[in-house]
Amino acid sequence: MDAERRRQALVALYEQLGPDHECPLKAGRTNVVFGMGNANADLMFVGEAPGFHEDQQGKPFVGRAGQLLDELLAGIGMTRKDDAFIANVLKCRPPGNRDPQPEEIDECTPWLMRQVQLVEPRVICTLGNFATKLITQSPVGITKCCGTPQEREVAGLAVTVYPLFHPAAALRTPAVLQRLREDFSRIPDLLAKQRAEDPPHALVGDAAPAAPPQLDLFER
Ligand code: URA
Repeated sequence: MDAERRRQALVALYEQLGPDHECPLKAGRTNVVFGMGNANADLMFVGEAPGFHEDQQGKPFVGRAGQLLDELLAGIGMTRKDDAFIANVLKCRPPGNRDPQPEEIDECTPWLMRQVQLVEPRVICTLGNFATKLITQSPVGITKCCGTPQEREVAGLAVTVYPLFHPAAALRTPAVLQRLREDFSRIPDLLAKQRAEDPPHALVGDAAPAAPPQLDLFER
């Protein structure tokens, strides 16, 4: 799929999810937080759930953890707008930022899987325990598996899953931050390896995109 068709398909999915989406968290949310970034990115981040600021703005990772995520991306020469697509396991904020419940995860997983199918990332960085366990389909926690890339099938696609500590945990604990910085520094090599192994996403003969591939759903 070329970049513009990919972007349009994600916009259509966003519209299908809709602001009035029925789910167990509807009563407590201000906005559904779909995701944002480059629809054509080779790199995807999956976090846990929107927090207060994300719920207010309808965008993922816009609070302090998000600032750290942007800083870590800048450290490897990347931005969320150009180089990554960012989503969460849950699309709505759990009350008081409590842990996602199994039935909430079940409700939201099909939307996340559809996002993966449309973005077709080569590398998925899972941020923290909930995203890691869901995407790897394994009970192994983040402390054991962080920084170790795994080849997995996710939503029918072969991808490298790269579990990372959640930036919010890094804000609380300096040793976790140090580890997150080290693990982040290996992302460019992981992407390069994947790109060397596989042909580019765009099919030969695809038209050049009519518009930039950034999916800034919330500022249109
Ligand atoms: N934490 C998350 O896991 N996701 C966000 O979008 C913000 C904070």
